[in-house]
Amino acid sequence: MGSLLKTKDLRVNFNVQSGFLKELFSKEKKQVKAVDGIDFHINKGEIVSLVGESGSGKTTTGKAILQLLDHVEGEVLYDGSQINKRDKKQIKSFRQRAQMIFQDPYESLNSKFKIMDIVAEPLEINKKIRNEDEKREKVKEALEWAGLKPAEAYMDRYPHELSGGQRQRVVIAAALILNPEFIVADEPVSMLDVSVRADILRLMVDLRDKKGISYLFITHDISLAWLISNRIAIMYLGKIVEIGDVNKVISSSLHPYTKALINVMPKPKISKEKRKRMVLKGETPNPSNIPSGCRFHTRCPFAEEKCRVEEPALAQYSEGHFAACHFAEKLLEGAE
Ligand code: SF4
Repeated sequence: MGSLLKTKDLRVNFNVQSGFLKELFSKEKKQVKAVDGIDFHINKGEIVSLVGESGSGKTTTGKAILQLLDHVEGEVLYDGSQINKRDKKQIKSFRQRAQMIFQDPYESLNSKFKIMDIVAEPLEINKKIRNEDEKREKVKEALEWAGLKPAEAYMDRYPHELSGGQRQRVVIAAALILNPEFIVADEPVSMLDVSVRADILRLMVDLRDKKGISYLFITHDISLAWLISNRIAIMYLGKIVEIGDVNKVISSSLHPYTKALINVMPKPKISKEKRKRMVLKGETPNPSNIPSGCRFHTRCPFAEEKCRVEEPALAQYSEGHFAACHFAEKLLEGAE
């Protein structure tokens, strides 16, 4: 599997909006380091999950990769070429090859349009159709890939006539219509009934296997990541703190934050002996005021003095399995 996408030191900073008076008298402009220097890659035909609590920077990472934000620093390499936001021709082609699916299928579909027109919109924008017959044929194909069969039964309906699961399939069909190789799926099942979540996840895996689509799957739920990923990256306050093959991260996690996320997984199929009981203390710190040293030290039950002053680097512990914790090896031994 060759690499499809690579980030190098990816960073996104936002200015914090404070009160008017504070803004007037303060010389310092506060910044939130939403994404604070992350390096990872996604291979062709691979699903990599980005997992973390809300506010960890997952969605911002997905949008930064797709060049949907201003103030992105660092590099995004796609299929060997560095993406340059000022190169309009390159961005146009990149936006056809790489798509995003958002979490809310109710918000992402325009209720005034028929399914036919919603799914065909990217074709129209990119001037990819010559006539109505071609448009209908392409929409039919995309709807059927997304599992809405027979497609003719959906084309002339409106979003409000469909269930949540069917709407998310329409969103997926609209993402598929330009034949992308890569999709950023941002919490694509979190707004859906539990009964249809597995169907949508199965569809995503099916599209990977049959069409070779690669995904960045963004989720707060590590059990979903465990179900569908090849690899998992754990994100905390703008940084990746652990990354590796799905089985290694779930059964031999190295970072205390990963262990805490695994601990709340519903009925994980991992041995009880390997699961160390650990509950997260306190709230996620404010991203405009990231703790010194290891950014997880304010919540970590294993924190020592070194953790408060020295930031741990992401280090490799076995093939492709990296973690950013001063005591990862010691914690792993303790868990066995
Ligand atoms: Fe916990 Fe220290 Fe490891 Fe950070 S470096 S995760 S505070 S033990």
